[in-house]
Amino acid sequence: MAKQPTDMYLPPDDAGAFAQVSCYFDWASDHLGLSDDVHDLLGTPWREIRVSVPVRLDNGRVRTYTGYRVQYNGARGPYKGGIRYHQAADLDEIRALAALMTWKTALVDIPFGGAKGGVQCSPKDLSERELNRLTRRFTQNIEHLLGPTRDIPAPDMGTNAQTMAWIMDSYGQIHGHTPAIVTGKPIELGGSLGRDAATGRGTVFVLDEVISRYEMKAGATLAIQGFGNVGSWVARLAPLAGHTVIAVSDVSGGIYNPGGLDIRRLMGHVKETGSVHGFSGTDEVTNEELLELPCDVLIPAAIEKVIHERNADKIQARIVLEAANHPVTPIAGHILTERGIVGVPDLLTNSGGVIVSYFEWAQNIQQFRWEEDRVNAELKRIITDGFRAVCERAEADNITLRQAAFAIGVARVARAADLRGFV
Ligand code: NAD
Repeated sequence: MAKQPTDMYLPPDDAGAFAQVSCYFDWASDHLGLSDDVHDLLGTPWREIRVSVPVRLDNGRVRTYTGYRVQYNGARGPYKGGIRYHQAADLDEIRALAALMTWKTALVDIPFGGAKGGVQCSPKDLSERELNRLTRRFTQNIEHLLGPTRDIPAPDMGTNAQTMAWIMDSYGQIHGHTPAIVTGKPIELGGSLGRDAATGRGTVFVLDEVISRYEMKAGATLAIQGFGNVGSWVARLAPLAGHTVIAVSDVSGGIYNPGGLDIRRLMGHVKETGSVHGFSGTDEVTNEELLELPCDVLIPAAIEKVIHERNADKIQARIVLEAANHPVTPIAGHILTERGIVGVPDLLTNSGGVIVSYFEWAQNIQQFRWEEDRVNAELKRIITDGFRAVCERAEADNITLRQAAFAIGVARVARAADLRGFV
């Protein structure tokens, strides 16, 4: 088992998201022997913008939201990262996610930097027309920072292909028709086949690799927190690879059947009722209980910091596959490692989304559409190579998979910054 270096600073669970993500960067910088100058350069976001987003609501009133775009590092290519609509999407959170994107694109070696954006709002409480107006106003306020060779947004929590279509349209009103300005668009507007499922599909490719690497029995039992884009695609695709989904949840709570859930029927139930709640033949569990269920693989696919100091010693899974961004606090990660639970880091697990976003961007620039089989095959190759590289590095340096992922990602960004003469 990988040893946990004693010199790694573990910020408390109530530290801000950026401080939590930065502890891994600091560790990697030290491990790689980067100079203080390079450490400071790569540890600091390049550009951050906060904008007001006034929106006329359907009731005639105007409500002003706050939006952000953080361009963390562009040494390896145009900034790339999702747009999140969520109540907790503040600057610290967006900055942390932008940093993660930087190390993620470098880890899987696609030619992008890292960014993230968001509007602090509750999209469920806004109508379609209100969301359209909010998205247009947000885009108008940041469009001068965007561009197919500058910064390319994508969907994240609370946003989807429709949101990307609105961003593309508002950007196009100023700059002309520019499909490559966003990824995760509807297929009809130049989106890539396979993009909607890509993060979930990539997670399942990593799941298969991890099961064979750790010599677990084929056909694992899975508990999945979150049933949005990522969680629902993992739930749909994992059974095709022979796995059994025993529990899923969304913001309203979870459902559990140790014998397995019929995901096709569950999708129909969610379509009808709007949530997994009340699905027949299952027991209700809370989101907290779901994390502690007996299963082979626990897949957090919703929000940040759900595994923390207070529940890390109750996790029963053998593998924690981080489909969400930053679902495990550094202290909890340390506890899981001490307990022999393998943590497969977000940087790798959920990279399928940005990998296929890269394919979408490349297709848009070439004005040529790939077949879905090609998209999925290239995704499998890149994410599997990434997983193997992380495992080899972890073994060679006797470090955790997360430390290995950061070491590879940070080294690539440092090298690009050096070659370009940043410092
Ligand atoms: P989504 O908005 O489609 O779905 C989020 C899911 O989480 C929903 O089922 C929602 O009900 C649930 N949820 C929300 N708050 C919750 C709470 N407090 N407790 C439990 N469940 C809650 O979002 P998504 O795109 O599936 O993203 C999920 C995670 O995956 C995020 O961390 C995101 O950053 C990450 N991610 C997404 C992509 C992508 O391509 N969509 C790519 C990489 C990483």
